[in-house]
Amino acid sequence: MKKFGLFFTLLCCLFIWGCSEKRSNRNDGFKHWIQNNGKIKVLSTTAMIDDLVQQIGKGHIDTITLIQGELDPHSYQLIKGDDEKLAFADIIFYNGLGLEHGASLYHHLEHNSKAIPLGDQIALQDSSHIVYVNEQKDPHIWMDISLWAKTIPVIAQILSQKDPEHSAEYSTNANKLVGELMTAHEKTKQIMQAVPENKRYLITSHDAFNYFTRAYLSEEGEVLSGEWTKRFAAPEGLAPESQLSTTDIRNIIKHMQKYNITLLFPESNVSRDSIKKILQAGREEGLKMEIACCALYGDAMGPPGSDGDTYLKMIIYNAQTIADCMKPEEGLTASQKSRRNVIAAENY
Ligand SMILES: [Zn+2]
Repeated sequence: MKKFGLFFTLLCCLFIWGCSEKRSNRNDGFKHWIQNNGKIKVLSTTAMIDDLVQQIGKGHIDTITLIQGELDPHSYQLIKGDDEKLAFADIIFYNGLGLEHGASLYHHLEHNSKAIPLGDQIALQDSSHIVYVNEQKDPHIWMDISLWAKTIPVIAQILSQKDPEHSAEYSTNANKLVGELMTAHEKTKQIMQAVPENKRYLITSHDAFNYFTRAYLSEEGEVLSGEWTKRFAAPEGLAPESQLSTTDIRNIIKHMQKYNITLLFPESNVSRDSIKKILQAGREEGLKMEIACCALYGDAMGPPGSDGDTYLKMIIYNAQTIADCMKPEEGLTASQKSRRNVIAAENY
């Protein structure tokens, strides 16, 4: 018993040390960012935006991300110190399209002349880029790499306006980055199109994968006709909430039966509650179901060192995981089989 107590205390110490270490790294980043060193200070709300901004501005800017780790960007509310960051930033980039709707953050971003809603800029270029769910704009545009690439010239232009001296460099970096993203876009298409058409149906916890589905899971004709929407369903709507009605669950079960779907994908930053509720309801209906063991990156990138720690790694990881799990087991090579990491519902 004593030994267990000692082990438990040690575990707690390690946990507290780990947390304080992370916090101190974050504080060091903030201390550096807030120094007056002549560089442009850019704040991005999400890591997916910050990843692009860093690669365009490189050594001429200092960047910081407001919504850290796996926190939910839909409901994020300002915490102590955020006011200071928002006030100090020369430029604020945010996703827009209703993503950052936590009241205190939304209040700061709205009517702020320093704040640029990248998603809304894309919508202005061509409204057909935007997916609507129940007449609401879907904010998850980073899930289609070719759409996310359209934010790059906007970022380069805003940086150039603030710092004309380096505009040629921003433009060169931006062109190179667009090229890299478009190559990754084609690669993601190839990964997904290698899955048989009748298996390309995706179910996740919340509605983060509409753009991914339209760009990578659907057939060309379905994109034109709007029928692509049948290839993706999620019980929780545009923002994760876990408050599912019996109708929500019944609708998902019906959808799974209609398209012969047996596989569910959890998301890294969303509670597994809704997935468990679907499993329970499916079991009652006698459905055969499987759950992917690896969670997808939806609203947040992975931690440093993970396979989702940059924007492109996150999307390619999602594509590879979805493709590996969706492919029927027959005909797979041994290494493909080992990557088909799913667990039967009864063992979940
Ligand atoms: Zn989301």
